[in-house]
Amino acid sequence: MEFTQFHPTSLAAGPTQTRRPLISEAVRGAGAPLVLENGERFTKELAPRDVVSRAIAAQLKAGHQVYLDGRHFKGRPFSARFPAITKACHAAGLDPDTQRLPVKPAMHYHMGGIAVDHHGRSSLPGLWANGEVACTGLHGANRLASNSLLEALVCGKWIAEDIDAHSTPFIPLSAPTPRVPFLSPTWTLNDLMEEQAGILRHEDGLRALLEKALPLARHYGPALTASFIAWAALHRTESRGSHWREDAPTSRSPQRQSWTLVDLPSA
Ligand SMILES: Cc1cc2nc3c(=O)[nH]c(=O)nc-3n(C[C@H](O)[C@H](O)[C@H](O)COP(=O)(O)OP(=O)(O)OC[C@H]3O[C@@H](n4cnc5c(N)ncnc54)[C@H](O)[C@@H]3O)c2cc1C
Repeated sequence: MEFTQFHPTSLAAGPTQTRRPLISEAVRGAGAPLVLENGERFTKELAPRDVVSRAIAAQLKAGHQVYLDGRHFKGRPFSARFPAITKACHAAGLDPDTQRLPVKPAMHYHMGGIAVDHHGRSSLPGLWANGEVACTGLHGANRLASNSLLEALVCGKWIAEDIDAHSTPFIPLSAPTPRVPFLSPTWTLNDLMEEQAGILRHEDGLRALLEKALPLARHYGPALTASFIAWAALHRTESRGSHWREDAPTSRSPQRQSWTLVDLPSA
């Protein structure tokens, strides 16, 4: 559950309430550099997602602004190469042909999830999991771009075959509990997750997050998921793929960890 991937470059402009548009890796692939406010480059733009996201997060944490500069493509300009991204930039009031684009990493993909076997079966009889909610192990600790839809199709096929061959009656599941619409006047789960379980993690922050999320976990699905992520991240005292612990920056324990509700401390 600790393996949450951040896309390095979401557009950090426009309305904050809506999902921020992503600026595809293809833009960096075409030669647009990542720069600070003074134009200085600070990372290898074509490094893996986790490396670039961490480099940007470190600059933002140090108080810098980070921009993707697509103003100097040879031949065709930005708008001709990336019309859909250009449209999203225009909607945010930016012209990528003449302006640098402010960017920041955004939570993008979950490599962990419900542990499944090679039929997509979970440990609960009659419950299969597929897609981003499942942990097939296929992506390891850091998914490469553009293979999640392929995974969903491939695993979906063998799950369908397994369900077809399934003869025992299905267990009816109870309806999900209603969502808690309001948590606190001073913090939101989104903010907490971004601050404490985001790209750069630390034991102190993960404990602080658990302290707030756990009391809500049994009644509020997102708080339960947040608690699992924080708990798993706390117990992985190493850095691997998308999981980076500032207080444990080396890789050392390659084992896969599975957690269930009984592992979480009661709130
Ligand atoms: C901007 C963006 C670009 C991407 N680009 C690519 C790409 O180029 N290539 C690629 O391979 N992958 C890409 N991905 C990743 C890929 O889109 C996702 O991993 C994939 O769509 C996951 O599919 P899913 O069916 O598992 O989940 P989802 O598509 O998230 O579907 C889950 C569904 O469950 C519903 N749901 C949630 N909670 C409940 C509930 N309690 N009750 C009932 N329904 C519920 C949701 O409304 C949703 O419809 C991208 C993702 C994003 C966000």
